Amino acid sequence: MYNIMAQQIQIYNTLKGEKETFKPIADGQVGMYVCGPTVYSDVHLGNCRTFISFDMIYRYLLHAGYKVRYVRNITDAGHLEASLAGKKKLDQLEPMEIVQKYTVGFHQVMEQFKNLPPTIEPTATGHIIEQIEITKDILQKGLAYESNGSVYFDVEKYNETYPYGELSGRKIEELLSGTRDLDGQDEKRSPLDFALWKKASPTHIMRWPSPWGDGFPGWHLECTAMSTKYLGETFDIHGGGMDLKFPHHECEVAQGTATNGKSPVNYWMHANMLTLNGQKMSKSTGNTIEPEELFSGENDIMNKAYHPMVVRFFMMQAHYRSILDFSSDALGAAEKGFHKLMNAIKDLDQLSTSETSSEDVDKLIASFYAAMNDDFNTPILVANLFEAATYINKVKDKKSEISKADLKKLSAAMQAFTFEVMGLDMIDSGGGNQLDAAMDIVLELRKNAREQKDWGTSDLIRDKLKEAGITVKDSAEGSSWTVN
Ligand code: AMP
Ligand code: ZN
Repeated sequence: MYNIMAQQIQIYNTLKGEKETFKPIADGQVGMYVCGPTVYSDVHLGNCRTFISFDMIYRYLLHAGYKVRYVRNITDAGHLEASLAGKKKLDQLEPMEIVQKYTVGFHQVMEQFKNLPPTIEPTATGHIIEQIEITKDILQKGLAYESNGSVYFDVEKYNETYPYGELSGRKIEELLSGTRDLDGQDEKRSPLDFALWKKASPTHIMRWPSPWGDGFPGWHLECTAMSTKYLGETFDIHGGGMDLKFPHHECEVAQGTATNGKSPVNYWMHANMLTLNGQKMSKSTGNTIEPEELFSGENDIMNKAYHPMVVRFFMMQAHYRSILDFSSDALGAAEKGFHKLMNAIKDLDQLSTSETSSEDVDKLIASFYAAMNDDFNTPILVANLFEAATYINKVKDKKSEISKADLKKLSAAMQAFTFEVMGLDMIDSGGGNQLDAAMDIVLELRKNAREQKDWGTSDLIRDKLKEAGITVKDSAEGSSWTVN
């Protein structure tokens, strides 16, 4: 029953600039590709938001009953090359050692956030041959040219046959007038042209032989190679952060179309940015928070630590296409909301039932589906789940009634949408009222010790709690704690 209700999904398609009813190419199956991380440094929370958004989308497609092939790549070559060489000098590490380290770290963070693994996670370096083949093909079609050991995509030539700029809504004339001469662009016929293959300078470590000499593939090409290899020439959904729309995804459209004569993707989906003080969280500007800093509370921005599930819930409270600003206050509010929802779900087991229900439970459940079917509107879903929570509380207080059959239905639906679809999980003890109460007592005793300058006792309490998996953080407002 649930699956049928979820078969009317509206997706906002960037390519069309509007919502469309989702219709996969093959009945009951979905092919989805999402641009993965560049593994030469730790992922920050901004990156995590995009991966969590697409995990939620993946989960809802699964819940709807689709068989999904979800491909998310690892960028371990290409545009990473130059930075990697720079970093290597500092770290004295092998490129693949760096790649390994940050890939493992990335997977750990994804697991902490309860993101499901994609069904295929291909690497750029594992698909060099495919990328060389596509480059050869585009060259042969006359839509690319070789220049000094590199191969560039000829955007203006391509634009004679196919429209360039449709995804990002840019016009080639405007793009041309907006470009300046940049260093190293002399190899290109036009500043809009982008590299399919780059010649490696003698100092570049990551390099592969090719018909054009030693080099490495351009960044845009890896996603074209891996998405079409595993999902076909045209596939259902391609996702990534909004910042990748141009030029990365525009170039993917051009490469796919040049190779196969047709647009590679039916639904382009773009997740919006996580900001910090209104500014995009970004590696380059340095205004980032790493997940671990947030989970441990060891950062200058937040006044306490937050559990990964609270952070995930915070993200679910915003629509994936809206900008989300990160702040201590917003996370604090999300924490309260998270516990309210979890407590309601816990209470479901203990409700006593009546002959009839005071509310229309089917309507409530339908509202969960309606929210998700409307372009994965998780904030509306959360609001509707809160409405159900309010009803549950009323039943608990004997101010409302629920029938046995309705309770069973509501319980199944609330659990499905909270755990399966939004990917949340109960925090083992963090949400428990007894633990909260006990911790209040412990922290009060520690506060007394500190006031009496009994640092020994105060530190002992903190260290023993740490051993037990509870981190205490002190700030101007007092002490707070979190379960690790
Ligand atoms: P990168 O490793 O830089 O290629 O980024 C990996 C993914 O994270 C891409 O889909 C980006 O669009 C996304 N991303 C980067 N910064 C942010 C941000 N501040 N908020 C949300 N997503 C982001
Ligand atoms: Zn990509």
